[in-house]
Amino acid sequence: MKTFVFFGDKQYDYRSLMANQKDFYVGDRLILASQSVIAEQVASDKVYLCSKKDNGAGFGSHSQIQGVDALITAIPNQYLLIRTADCFPILLEDKKQRVVAAVHSGREGTRLNLVGKTINALKEKLEVMAQDLIAYIGAGICGEHYTVDEGTWRFYNECMEQQGFLIGKVPFCHIDLRAGITQQLLAAGVPSDQIVHKNTCTFESPLYFSYRRDKTDNRQISLIGLIDE
Ligand SMILES: [Zn+2]
Repeated sequence: MKTFVFFGDKQYDYRSLMANQKDFYVGDRLILASQSVIAEQVASDKVYLCSKKDNGAGFGSHSQIQGVDALITAIPNQYLLIRTADCFPILLEDKKQRVVAAVHSGREGTRLNLVGKTINALKEKLEVMAQDLIAYIGAGICGEHYTVDEGTWRFYNECMEQQGFLIGKVPFCHIDLRAGITQQLLAAGVPSDQIVHKNTCTFESPLYFSYRRDKTDNRQISLIGLIDE
């Protein structure tokens, strides 16, 4: 078994994917719609363990996995798809190639430690050890470019502090989601040398969709799956 990890940029637009409703290529790999699973993504802290019947969720008449922002699978040739434009996609790979996960962590997901909850679910439901996980953090908005109103900022900071996560050196009313997610991965037990950063700000890079910059509903897609080849 191998793990297939993919972070898309503007070339991989979720909106076109949904308009086409067809199998699609990422690089030279053909991904079948019937092998893909899409979460509804409602800024929740809900994690969902996929089964075979979830294949194709989000395509045609098969509805997205409702009310969740993180997907886990142990099923070969099932691709988990996350869409973002400033929020962070986090893809988790088990070194033993038994399971993978895809997480959508924006301000709410990060405030609620969705990535930590996903790793807990991996431990509890599938007996995955955190030290076996490789975490890929994709492109998202950086702390310099992500500003919120004062009330939102204080609430986010309070929630993070209550959970023992440091805010770091950010200016007034700025939020550094990547720093928060990194701390959450470390706290869950992922070794620091197994956290792989894309280190790209979607707001700065013209190669990526940025909701805050563009104010559109375009989103880049990220995918992870176990493939038996
Ligand atoms: Zn930036």
